[in-house]
Amino acid sequence: MKQSISGITRAATLLLILCLLSGCTLIKTGVALMHTREVFVASKTNPDVRYLAGASPEIAEQVANRVAAAIQHSREVVEKAHGAKFAHAPQVYICHADCFTRYVPVTVNEPAAQFGDSIFLNIDALLKREARGALQLEYILTHELTHLLLYQVGGTMAYGRVPAWFREGVALQISQGAGASEFVTMPEAARMLLDGKHFDPAEIGSIFANRTATAYKLTTPMFYREALMFVDFLKANNPAAFDKALHDIVIGKDFHESFEAAYGASIASYWPAFIASVAAITPMPNIN
Ligand SMILES: [Zn+2]
Repeated sequence: MKQSISGITRAATLLLILCLLSGCTLIKTGVALMHTREVFVASKTNPDVRYLAGASPEIAEQVANRVAAAIQHSREVVEKAHGAKFAHAPQVYICHADCFTRYVPVTVNEPAAQFGDSIFLNIDALLKREARGALQLEYILTHELTHLLLYQVGGTMAYGRVPAWFREGVALQISQGAGASEFVTMPEAARMLLDGKHFDPAEIGSIFANRTATAYKLTTPMFYREALMFVDFLKANNPAAFDKALHDIVIGKDFHESFEAAYGASIASYWPAFIASVAAITPMPNIN
């Protein structure tokens, strides 16, 4: 759809004002959204998986073929975990790092991102991680699909109101740790938790100020690992309640109310028992 020049100017001005209010993330987002996606080519076996050849066309096509072959299974894993189905087929865009950062307002080292109703994959970062022995890109795809399901089924507002720590913890749980397990070990995260350096389990969640790693002075992998450990604890504590809460959250019900209805207690009330369980399996440091 064509926009008039004045319409574009108005949009740019609005974005500039928003940028002044809350940093430049919104500007980057606006710019990323203005790039056409029509240059992407559909993979041979799945028209919803598209790629841009870039500097290494063969590698780009290979990655696209891998994603096309894996996406159905990943979808099923994510849908089963939530007891909910995607509203429509996920759209995946694959390209090299320079292109990836044009389309998504994140850094060049990020291997993937769910951006609105689409998933973008960064070929260079993904293959670099695989070369280091990290989880294969198929797991990263599952991680991003978990975010996309909440966005698609719950809606934009519900997505924004789920605390980031829970969104990431669940995405890691379903993708077998893709995103943190290769960078931060469980003992390292346990030490941080016991030292009181962690996210707030009572975080309300907000579309305006949803706190992520930097807000808690944690690295992203540490934030993710801690979130995964707490989410795993909650699930182990009562698997049926966890499944019910997750289903209600993904269909757009209030995050804290869903948890309380399923467990009969607030999510934060489980924190002391969680910390005690971490302490029980963490050796005391040597004191000389
Ligand atoms: Zn994530």
